[in-house]
Amino acid sequence: SAKQAAAFNRIVFEVVQLLNHQFKKQKVRVDLQLDDAVPHIVMDVNKIKQVLINLLINACQAMEGPGAITIATVWQADEKWVEVHIRDNGKGIAPAMKSKIFDPFFTTKATGQSTGLGLSVSYGIVQDHGGEITVESEPGQWTCFTIRLPLEA
Ligand code: ADP
Ligand code: MG
Repeated sequence: SAKQAAAFNRIVFEVVQLLNHQFKKQKVRVDLQLDDAVPHIVMDVNKIKQVLINLLINACQAMEGPGAITIATVWQADEKWVEVHIRDNGKGIAPAMKSKIFDPFFTTKATGQSTGLGLSVSYGIVQDHGGEITVESEPGQWTCFTIRLPLEA
């Protein structure tokens, strides 16, 4: 792979720029909270961008129209990892589905519209970086994915 030290906030910012057209078209408000303290981390930039894009597109699709996404980067002094939280106010994930969403080809979307590979691929990429991806949700209200990445992969 092609891991290099890169500014995590900048990667997050660039992905938001990339999707800005989609956000505007759908009337999705994006609240970007970049913690200035977040350090550089060693990562495969293109793959981490792919993970962030997958999560943000899922967030848009979960809202099926106007909504709000909060993206927050977090680093606590002395910690050996950084976090990014991606929260949407879409339809949420039923408790019974939570254990399945990271499986390859699992999708609740219409056949032909999606492959069900986004989260499974994202999970693999985050694992390859020695990190974790977790999800919390209140069905009918909100979903929040957290990616935790070590400073050195
Ligand atoms: P796909 O987007 O092709 O369906 P993914 O692997 O990206 O496949 O996601 C799998 C499933 O997880 C989705 O079909 C959906 O049911 C659920 N999911 C993922 N992200 C969200 C979200 N932000 N809100 C609600 N459900 C979600
Ligand atoms: Mg997807």
